[in-house]
Amino acid sequence: MDYSAAIRERLPSLWRADGLGELMGKLESYLPESELPGILDAYEAASAAHDGQQRLSGDDYISHPIAVARILADLHLDPGSIKAALLHDVLEDTPCTLDDINGRFGEDVALLVDGVSKLDKLRFDSAVEAQAESFRKMLLAMVQDLRVILVKLADRTHNMRTIEHLPAPKRRRIAKETLEIYAPIANRLGMYSLKVELEDLGFRAFTPFRYRVLNRALRRSRGSQRQFLRRIVSNLNKRIAERGIEARLVAREKRLYSIYSKMRRKHIPLSEIVDVFGVRIVVADIDTCYRMLGLVHELYKPMPGRFKDYISIPRVNGYQSLHTTLFGPRSMPLEVQIRTEEMDEVAEQGIAAHWQYKAVDKLTHGAEARAREWLQNLMEMQQASNSEEFLETVKADLFPDKVYVFTPKGDIMRLPRGATAVDFAYAVHTDIGNRCKAAKIARREVPLNTTLNNGDTVEIVTARSARPNPNWVNFVTTGKARNAIRAYLKNLRREEARELGKRLLSQALRPYALNLRRLRKAQRGRLIEELGISAMDEVYEQVGLGERLAPVVAGMLAQQLGEEDDARVEKKPLEIAGTEGLLVTYAGCCHPIPGDGIVGYMSSGRGVIIHRDKCHNVAKFREQPAKWIPVDWRQGISGEFQSEIRVRTLNRVGLLADVAGRISATFSNIRHVSVESADDESMLLFRLNVRDRRHLAQVMRSIRTNPEVVRVSRTPA
Ligand code: MN
Repeated sequence: MDYSAAIRERLPSLWRADGLGELMGKLESYLPESELPGILDAYEAASAAHDGQQRLSGDDYISHPIAVARILADLHLDPGSIKAALLHDVLEDTPCTLDDINGRFGEDVALLVDGVSKLDKLRFDSAVEAQAESFRKMLLAMVQDLRVILVKLADRTHNMRTIEHLPAPKRRRIAKETLEIYAPIANRLGMYSLKVELEDLGFRAFTPFRYRVLNRALRRSRGSQRQFLRRIVSNLNKRIAERGIEARLVAREKRLYSIYSKMRRKHIPLSEIVDVFGVRIVVADIDTCYRMLGLVHELYKPMPGRFKDYISIPRVNGYQSLHTTLFGPRSMPLEVQIRTEEMDEVAEQGIAAHWQYKAVDKLTHGAEARAREWLQNLMEMQQASNSEEFLETVKADLFPDKVYVFTPKGDIMRLPRGATAVDFAYAVHTDIGNRCKAAKIARREVPLNTTLNNGDTVEIVTARSARPNPNWVNFVTTGKARNAIRAYLKNLRREEARELGKRLLSQALRPYALNLRRLRKAQRGRLIEELGISAMDEVYEQVGLGERLAPVVAGMLAQQLGEEDDARVEKKPLEIAGTEGLLVTYAGCCHPIPGDGIVGYMSSGRGVIIHRDKCHNVAKFREQPAKWIPVDWRQGISGEFQSEIRVRTLNRVGLLADVAGRISATFSNIRHVSVESADDESMLLFRLNVRDRRHLAQVMRSIRTNPEVVRVSRTPA
């Protein structure tokens, strides 16, 4: 018996449900009948679970899961995705449990439904944290099954279509999230048709006024645009027919949001954008794509530098096509895309094409493999960061403006636009990044922060002794590089903290005549127990980071040993050698240099900060005496220290050069100069490197010998 007739007879009430008939009709068009009863089961389970619930629009709740399933049915997705779409909200909003779904519909569907369900908000301190953590959870589910994101995107699409029923602040929040995360993910996965819908809906809900203004302006110009395009299409069609090539031509209209983004990105008015026309030419095979390219270049003159071959080098999301821009009639720019039918399907549906019912072919495997590669990268990143940081990294990663560069062996690497040599090194391998010392582009040595351009051949010089530099974090653009550098520094900091902690504790034990190295095992054990930690290294680390105070720990140890009374009240200063790492820093407010009187401040989590004892910040922090430790410069200290001087001069041409020359002649390096000029006087501010106070005095003396210099002073004095 005919399947639909049977169902209609058995469950007449089904057909009254909003949109179900249409959904089943779509499914019948591409699924075998044997799959349909299972889908109706899912519908019944969802309908029973949501019974009595309504959406803010007043519709029965079940209309939403049905609509989500319809979006996926339009993409011809497999029965599992459709069932999951129907059931996707039951875990969050109804008593139905994961076990119920697992028992009735199998693990497959249960995993998908669980993947799109948000984590319980109550478990988190803030909405931001809940959102970030839910996103991380969805991503983990995606790694197991990419269809999770297809269901989520369909869910978001329907919610965006019906967003007008939500209160305004929620509308904005959801629209923002859609523009920042979901539309870019759809783009990253090559799902162009969902991407443009999400963008336009997001744009309208996020900035309704701008949307309306732009929409109106665009509609006015569209009439003439369409006529113009018709002429181009008919010209092209005529020429194509003459050559006897089979081709399908589609005139493309620019989407509202892409126009808006372009206006914002390039700071140009609408009038300069709407006059860009687009035509897509779809042909049978790759060979014909290139022949077609020749044909259009004969018909209209190509714009130099605008041809892109995404067939031989596909975009990261698997997109393939030839792009060229021509001077059309009246010299109007005309953008042309040329691709095969298969490429066109992947271009519209991306990763979804891979999950279509019974879809098996090479192209979708390519898109699928790339999506997996991307997810794998994200997984590596999420291990190194907390969930909010991770979400930010993903957002940055989602905007796929890429450059293509080559390894010396000729392998292609895709990196985000703005990526530097260091990003490249980390993209090759984390170890290469951590050991990179220098970079060469086209065999010429370049600074590590050099921005890479398309086609560069990049070689990284490594050295076993090389280490990541904390400054790299300021210029790298890839999440991978940033996370790897941060992870390395975190480790390094831990080691530094232990070293410093040991020194501070040894010093604090001296008044008690105790020696850290000679503590017996039992004594350490008792201290560890009392502090509630697991190893001595932890005490050192906490002391080094300023989270625990050395004198307090020393006091505890002394008390344990009954030697407290012997304590002499002598405090020997901690010696500063100038070459300590991250955990001894020189305060930026007063720039201490050897020879200055100094004190150390134990900052929580950042080790010791060295201030000059005259610094006004020292006075401010005097209320916390426990945090200050006596420090002194080590005898015969060597190194470079930053200092600042102010030079007041008469306004004379060439004076700055003269002063700078005098500074260099005394072997001091200038790190920064700023100049403020009044009518007849100038104030020059130099930040420079010196060895110590004597060196600084020498520099200042040499500047003073210029008669046009009015006054030289150190800042702060
Ligand atoms: Mn939903």
